[in-house]
Amino acid sequence: MADTRDVQDDILLARTMLIDGEWVGALDGGTFPVHDPADGRVIVHAPAGQAADVDRAVAAARAAFAPGSAWRTMTPQERGRLIWRLADLVEHHAERLSALDSVDSGKPLDEMRYFDVPFSVDVLRYYAGWTTKITGDTIPVSYPAASGGRFHAYTLKEPVGVVAAVVPWNLPLLMAVKKLAPALATGCTVVLKPAEQTPVSMALLARLTIEAGFPAGVVNYVTGDGENAGAALVRHPGVDKVTFTGSVETGKAIVRTAADDLKRVSLELGGKSPNIVFDDADLDAAVAGAAAGAFATQGESCIAGSRLYIQRGVFDEVVRRLADHAASLKLGRGTEPGTQMGPLISAEHRDRVLEYIRIGLADGGRAVTGGRAPESEGYFVEPTVLVGVRPDSRAIREEIFGPVVCAVPFDTEDEVLRLANDSRFGLGAAVWTRDVSRAHRMAAAVESGQVWVNCYQAADSALPFGGTKESGWGRETCRENLEEYLETKTVVVAL
Ligand code: NAD
Repeated sequence: MADTRDVQDDILLARTMLIDGEWVGALDGGTFPVHDPADGRVIVHAPAGQAADVDRAVAAARAAFAPGSAWRTMTPQERGRLIWRLADLVEHHAERLSALDSVDSGKPLDEMRYFDVPFSVDVLRYYAGWTTKITGDTIPVSYPAASGGRFHAYTLKEPVGVVAAVVPWNLPLLMAVKKLAPALATGCTVVLKPAEQTPVSMALLARLTIEAGFPAGVVNYVTGDGENAGAALVRHPGVDKVTFTGSVETGKAIVRTAADDLKRVSLELGGKSPNIVFDDADLDAAVAGAAAGAFATQGESCIAGSRLYIQRGVFDEVVRRLADHAASLKLGRGTEPGTQMGPLISAEHRDRVLEYIRIGLADGGRAVTGGRAPESEGYFVEPTVLVGVRPDSRAIREEIFGPVVCAVPFDTEDEVLRLANDSRFGLGAAVWTRDVSRAHRMAAAVESGQVWVNCYQAADSALPFGGTKESGWGRETCRENLEEYLETKTVVVAL
């Protein structure tokens, strides 16, 4: 039976970090406040990890990775069993984990229950199955034949080493699991750093790794801000690979730092995804998809369909129906029954989103619905549909990361392709049409890491997820993601 103990007790787990199997505070005793975005109150003080704490965590991860360690000598099957056990524990504690991210990030509880947590469980089980299937190749060698030599050649797939996993605040648990699962499946060890806004679900996740039976030091959890803990982790010479999800600016800073010792880096960054509705589409489905694309997770989603291109013949109808839907959404505390949209993560972020709305309005836009922050102690912004915004406006070109969608009419396929691809991002895109040829033409021509046809945000552990252009490097949740945590060693034997 699922454990449903009080969320307040679980929140207090974030008062310590997990380093080498021990629960510890920051060495200098420093802490920082974590807020509930629904009312701004402080819910816990978490350790403010600094370079010295990162040193300890990386040393623990290095020791756990050393040849002959309990972790390194485990069989792939044993490793897979531990990951599967972690999945079972996450599933068992689904309600607790849901409540934690809901309080901490503002997300509606039902999004956690029906998406983030089950998907996290699935990602863990998917990678648990991979541990026994990571193999190299035997490779026939032709070249030395001329000199009469005969060789047996093969490749070994080896874990890259100590992984620094740095994650954002919008889907805290899921983002952590998407990094933890492949790192553990390949035999790496991990130092996990949550965003300073949302450490609490990861504190429980870290506890569950111990309960699952991972040896001390295999998973370490260090809290702190980006400038101190994050930057110290990324530049640490004991780290072999950085896997990062977050903003483009931080991603670029990490690449610059990682250049010093050529650490491996993979990046899941921002987006400004085009959602394209043709006039032959199933409009019920398209409007539902446009709403989910724009307003799920309060629009604080890297794959938010924030540029909505609608063919002119159905423009007014789609905008009207989307605006009606947006106006009907129930805003509230994430944990409150019936809440469909929660608060944004912070007052600062709310003000940033409102500034983008102001820019859109100044650049020719009109709010069909929304556009304001309701009177509240929490950091809410109304779901907002803008029309008429100039194509060169920052509201159309930059990631807003809030519940704001700009609707733009178009006439032809060529025109909408030009508009869709005129972006520095390339993360998600959707096409709504009943014309199967057009669907495939568009899927091939849109510059994006994934294209959804007649659906939005469809995700699966086996589907590659990631971005082109400035949306990132690499793919998560798929077989090829494993390669990002592996080195290939070539062995050549003279016969
Ligand atoms: P952010 O870049 O500000 O922070 C992300 C993480 O990086 C946090 O843990 C932070 O502490 C850390 N960090 C900050 N500065 C650092 C530095 N100099 N060195 C090392 N670590 C540092 O991003 P955010 O505001 O938390 O998240 C929002 C962004 O994340 C959006 O742009 C969104 O699109 C992106 N995102 C992308 C995906 C994806 O899969 N592509 C998923 C979710 C969010």
